Amino acid sequence: MTPRDVACNELVELLTEYLEDALPASERESVEVHLAGCEGCGNYLAQMRATIDALGSVPVETLSEEAADTLLAAFRRRTG
Ligand SMILES: [Zn+2]
Repeated sequence: MTPRDVACNELVELLTEYLEDALPASERESVEVHLAGCEGCGNYLAQMRATIDALGSVPVETLSEEAADTLLAAFRRRTG
């Protein structure tokens, strides 16, 4: 399967899941192909990795708004 083209803004949103190994194999490949050819996103990934190393987890503020909303909704359901 040929990896699809991913735009930079889309890649940034995929990176959180990429770093958490939460992406399906086909999406992972798309991310890796983009990263191999895009210096800006490569730098962004390096920054994310450094931040995650420092914090021990993916920082919440790097989550997309939609992902953050989903997490918040799940959190509210859990706490009732
Ligand atoms: Zn890019």
